[in-house]
Amino acid sequence: MAAAVRMDEKIEPIFQEVIQRNPGEVEFHQAVREVLESLGPVLVKHPEYTHHKIIERICEPERQIIFRVPWQDDKGNVQINRGFRVEFNSALGPYKGGLRFHPSVYLGIIKFLGFEQIFKNSLTGMPIGGGKGGSDFDPKGKSDSEIMRFCQSFMTELYRHLGEYTDVPAGDIGVGGREIGYMFGQYKRITNRYESGVLTGKGLSYGGSLVRTEATGYGATFFVNEMLKVRGQSFEGKTCVVSGSGNVAIYTIEKIHQLGGKVVACSDSNGVIYHEAGIDLELVQRLKEVERRRIKDYATYHKDAKFIEGGNIWEIPCQVAMPSATQNEINGRDAKLLVKNGCIAIGEGANMPTTPEGVKVFLDAGIAYGPGKAANAGGVATSALEMQQNASRDAWTFEFTEKKLEDIMVNIHQLCYETSEEYGVPGNYVAGSNIAGFIKVADAMVALGLI
Ligand code: GLU
Repeated sequence: MAAAVRMDEKIEPIFQEVIQRNPGEVEFHQAVREVLESLGPVLVKHPEYTHHKIIERICEPERQIIFRVPWQDDKGNVQINRGFRVEFNSALGPYKGGLRFHPSVYLGIIKFLGFEQIFKNSLTGMPIGGGKGGSDFDPKGKSDSEIMRFCQSFMTELYRHLGEYTDVPAGDIGVGGREIGYMFGQYKRITNRYESGVLTGKGLSYGGSLVRTEATGYGATFFVNEMLKVRGQSFEGKTCVVSGSGNVAIYTIEKIHQLGGKVVACSDSNGVIYHEAGIDLELVQRLKEVERRRIKDYATYHKDAKFIEGGNIWEIPCQVAMPSATQNEINGRDAKLLVKNGCIAIGEGANMPTTPEGVKVFLDAGIAYGPGKAANAGGVATSALEMQQNASRDAWTFEFTEKKLEDIMVNIHQLCYETSEEYGVPGNYVAGSNIAGFIKVADAMVALGLI
């Protein structure tokens, strides 16, 4: 298996230009570099992409919106946040991608996420372009009314840029069913339109889809299952570690348990829970989804579980690791530790959770490494299934929708694997996902002319 190669000499100047035009946006540079490093051999097979300057065009968002979000807290104080929506690429369909509410959000984060989203959405095979948005608003510790007032103010500006055929946001970190509900309510009120397909991740009582909540975690686990199958392995009896304890982590743990694996650790930004007997998922769900508490409280209910304050979850030996918290949570040192401790598969539920040094370690070690844009595409794919149900005013069963999700993940895996073989790096899912995701968008951009 070949590791990531150095950037092609025709592509290097394009990348330098991206850095110059987007100063200081380090996460965006990282995401662009990772894709561009895979594309050298593609230009050899497809000279038309060079002629049409597809790479240069794909690195420049079609539209970027930045706006003020004023709101009032419970004490009556005026608060100001910044809102973003980057409409990156609409060659395959309306802009599609989540909203992230987190204090770390700035333009560079939204652009890295939006850029990744283009290729991820392309891999799903669904008619969706790429976009992302969010705010530096911190939902932690806010009351329900504060969350509602913030969401209403955010949507009061954003609504004019949205539409079921234009731009369809969903959730991401800090944005779940509650926030989507408040934003949908405000969109409906301002536009006087019950336009179900304008947001996904909606509640089941007003146009949401079954399986959307579970989709990212389930999908990532299905993807890892496929990577394991290629190696004649399965989840049965495997010790697994899943970072995070939010929506993605919870449903990753659930599906791993259903497939016979055992998750022994999860985490939040304060520390790690290690429970050798296996994580009690119902308890995690109650603490995080219902009571909105911190993961350290888990240890007060299970005396044999350990909370490691500020701990590093990647020090815990496992055979399968599924980073499901946030970007750059596995560095080169963590990756070496994982490999040394016997890890054979990584499935990224989060977006870009591994640093470039970490990715190199995994590829050099020849372990099964499923990058986020392939492994976590099940979330947005199920959003596209939600749009499909909304467009036909239909609602599918859980079983039917989950089967569709599983088929999509099996297809994404196959496409990435076959592309890696075609380009002479079999089993390199980084190259496979970047190349396969890129080619579909590039072909559509050529076909649509200079837009
Ligand atoms: N935020 C998710 C992602 O990173 C889902 C986006 C969506 O459903 O539109 O893909």
